[in-house]
Amino acid sequence: MLPVENLMEKSIDDYREFLDSSRNEALQDLAKQLNGIRVLHVNATPQGGGVAEILRSLVPLQRSLGIDSNWHVLEPDKKLFEITKKMHNALQGGDEALTEEEKKYYIEKNKEIAKNIDAIEKDIILIHDPQPLASIEFLKKKTPSIIRIHIDSTKPNKDTEKFVIPFMQKYNKIVFTLTDFVPKTINKKKLTISPPAIDPLTAKNRYIDSDVCRTILIAAGINPDKPLVTQVSRFDKWKDPIGVIDAYYIAKNEIKDLQLLLMGVMEASDDPEAMEVFRAVEEKVQGDPDIFLIHKPEQLGEVSMGIYVNAIQRSSDVILQKSLREGFGLTVTEAMWKEKPVVAGNVGGIKLQIKNGENGFLVNSPEEAAKRIVELINNKGLAESIGKKAKEIVRKNFLITRLLEDELKIINEIRAK
Ligand code: UDP
Repeated sequence: MLPVENLMEKSIDDYREFLDSSRNEALQDLAKQLNGIRVLHVNATPQGGGVAEILRSLVPLQRSLGIDSNWHVLEPDKKLFEITKKMHNALQGGDEALTEEEKKYYIEKNKEIAKNIDAIEKDIILIHDPQPLASIEFLKKKTPSIIRIHIDSTKPNKDTEKFVIPFMQKYNKIVFTLTDFVPKTINKKKLTISPPAIDPLTAKNRYIDSDVCRTILIAAGINPDKPLVTQVSRFDKWKDPIGVIDAYYIAKNEIKDLQLLLMGVMEASDDPEAMEVFRAVEEKVQGDPDIFLIHKPEQLGEVSMGIYVNAIQRSSDVILQKSLREGFGLTVTEAMWKEKPVVAGNVGGIKLQIKNGENGFLVNSPEEAAKRIVELINNKGLAESIGKKAKEIVRKNFLITRLLEDELKIINEIRAK
């Protein structure tokens, strides 16, 4: 189990400015009803990627409300994570389905995961994503359970979908980010839609001074006085880093001093493909001095990941998220919260956040992305007004306080049964 003492302590009182009175009342009321209840979150990795990012805030916030929330992380297993990455890809629409041998290994590992989960005392179990999904089948102790899927399963590989659905149906509640992602056969009575959210008070999202940003940029070799477009994302084919580079080169025809930064520090142990994608990126950019690649933790120097990402996002003129599939895209939310204009793939959870032309731009190709980059860099007024609206939509819909309420409501519902 991830020792909760290792997580930054949080107090709900610090979030007052992000809570309107009705949400505050609802949270206090739920906290009273759920006082002392033991909630166990289970996911694949303690860091790297969106789920870990959310749990780092959600678990301490639940604790601050008097809920005994804990977090169990799977033991890293190279073969399991290769299989679950393949499963993730297939659910996002890749055509490579799991082999029978891989399914067997996945099931065997989930039996072990179930044993570990059984050994932990809890009243509610909340499983995130497919890696530990099947463990529900093998739990000896029956505990009210929730599965939360963060994947863009708009067009899944049918064979893989057929394999996972029976496991999903075993949970008391099934949570998706978007109705578009929900498989047709899912029991609608168990379904809840609840998108992810960001924590405005983390090192990654709180205000930091422009001097700090400038220092970090210069240390990375980036010229802070020249235009910069950035994509912060794991090196993953669905994040389309190659498409980002294509868009950059098209835009550079018009903006000669344009710089590009791709940041995807590899720390998620459940993502075995990242190095391969990174190599393809490296080959494509051929040491171009205006393209900056950050992928190793050492490149951050003494700066924490949160502050680094924060500084990079704040210093960029445009943030790209050119995903081809996207469960939600916390990177989009993070940049919007910083009043940045975001140019992003017209897919999945991104469509929930960006209203095209209003608070960001949705694009379907590198050409479209390039056109928007040029437009935003040449028109500071447009970039500013888009950025302001972007922050407002995040304040309204995508802050952790809303997610906290959603989750406590779900827990309360299944606990009452
Ligand atoms: N991230 C990070 N460092 C990196 C790349 C990504 O801290 O080098 C963070 C990013 O800021 C965001 C999360 O990882 O908080 C990625 O979440 P998202 O929902 O965008 O994508 P996922 O990786 O879950 O597909």
